[in-house]
Amino acid sequence: ACPSAGQIRAAFLRFFEERHGHRRLPSAPVRPRGDPRLLFVNAGMNQFKPIFLGTAHPRSELAQHRRVVNSQKCVRAGGKHNDLEDVGRDTYHHTFFEMLGNWSFGDYFKEEACSMAWELLTEVYEIPRDRLYVTYFGGDPSLGLSADEECRDVWLRLGVPASHMLPFPLKDNFWEMGDTGPCGPCTEIHYDHVGGGRNAAALVNQGSPDVVEIWNLVFMQYSREVEGNLLPLPQHHVDTGMGLERLVTVLQNKRSNYDTDLFTPILDAIHKGCGAPRYQGLVGNADVGRVNMAYRVVADHVRTLCVCITDGIYPGFSGAELVLRRILRRAVRFCSEVLQAPPGLLASLVPTVVEVLGDAYPELTRNANQIQDIINENEAAFLSSLERGRRIIERTVQQMEPSTNFPAEVAWSLYGSLGFPLDLIDLMLEEKGISLDSAAFNELVLEDVKRKAAGSQAGEPGSTNTPLDVHSLARLQDSKVPATDDSPKYAYT
Ligand code: ATP
Ligand code: MG
Ligand code: MG
Ligand code: MG
Repeated sequence: ACPSAGQIRAAFLRFFEERHGHRRLPSAPVRPRGDPRLLFVNAGMNQFKPIFLGTAHPRSELAQHRRVVNSQKCVRAGGKHNDLEDVGRDTYHHTFFEMLGNWSFGDYFKEEACSMAWELLTEVYEIPRDRLYVTYFGGDPSLGLSADEECRDVWLRLGVPASHMLPFPLKDNFWEMGDTGPCGPCTEIHYDHVGGGRNAAALVNQGSPDVVEIWNLVFMQYSREVEGNLLPLPQHHVDTGMGLERLVTVLQNKRSNYDTDLFTPILDAIHKGCGAPRYQGLVGNADVGRVNMAYRVVADHVRTLCVCITDGIYPGFSGAELVLRRILRRAVRFCSEVLQAPPGLLASLVPTVVEVLGDAYPELTRNANQIQDIINENEAAFLSSLERGRRIIERTVQQMEPSTNFPAEVAWSLYGSLGFPLDLIDLMLEEKGISLDSAAFNELVLEDVKRKAAGSQAGEPGSTNTPLDVHSLARLQDSKVPATDDSPKYAYT
């Protein structure tokens, strides 16, 4: 029988709690507490940072446990971790996902961490061993670090053949909390969705949908000093994270996260509420009119909206709230333009999301009505600006000479006065087979940046004069521009 996502999540928590003596702690809200540089909680370890940094009060609740397990709500849609661009294009990056994690705070280390992970995957979940590949830290001469042979030997003892193990460099398999502070090598477990006796080692880490990363185990054993050198930490910690959606895909024998019971009820609900044909999944590669991508984006984004609004992040004008506003607008646009849905579809999906996730996160159930109201209000405001924007783009395109670029001033005014996110403008043009005159657009951006810098103190991000392409600008907008830079004057309401 095929286990449900709920059973898979519960089995993880039970395994560490009952079989290995971990304390189960609830998910922290996705709105970060006490970490102003973080837009969203993006990993299970966020709430345990004070322990790794040694700043947790000895009598605080956090400091009472040496083994902890949980399932953490995570959002990766801005800042250092921004997966927004991949969402809908691939089938295993989401803006919201659940990270299953177990921790050792100065308790067990590599040997036990790997063997527990292996026991869970191969004995409890019964994943065939020959489908699993592991990576470990291959060393870094410039830091004077040799390969993590300790970790490699643990995997060998657990029966992982050498042909299924890959040493990777610093950038892939060395985890750092920041420029300074706790850090250490990690080991990652990947699953081969194809199998059949082939050796898939070469596909690990290539972004192939056939071999997907499922679990990251971090071993904190050093502290990076201000001078850049590493000192051994007095206490060793383990921090792991496994994406529930990817695990469920493996255990339900699917090729796409969207084909699991975490998503199919939402996709069905979208179908009932719109005029588009049913979601086709990955059958064939043709995605006529991007209908399938639209299904994936809308299903992904509505989950994110529900979780964020519940945790106190509302669509707004700066920081995480601005990101959420963009997510909402993107979802609305896919609903109305690609899925031919009447207004209200997005909010009508909320009860289904609550049904799927409410058992694990009961706070969603309590907020369902409020979530629906907020989505509907924001949708109505955006739809009217979208209509105007579309007319402007259409008129401009009609007047353009063949094979010329879309004029930068028009794009700038869509962005400025109608509050269109840049990635949305890009996307709308891409669909018409037109590109933006990015050189001219960069000019406008730079002028604007300079104008703003002149009005603010020196040394702020605005004073840079590095040219930006549209994509890095969009990312910059997501992550680094200070809150006041995207003030309500850009908003369309
Ligand atoms: P990837 O290389 O696939 O982007 P990652 O290395 O950025 O993943 P980690 O930071 O190591 O991810 O997070 C631990 C686990 O969380 C990953 O192994 C994966 O299972 C899951 N995960 C990470 N990002 C996402 C996402 N955007 N959507 C769904 N699951 C994710
Ligand atoms: Mg990633
Ligand atoms: Mg990775
Ligand atoms: Mg990883």
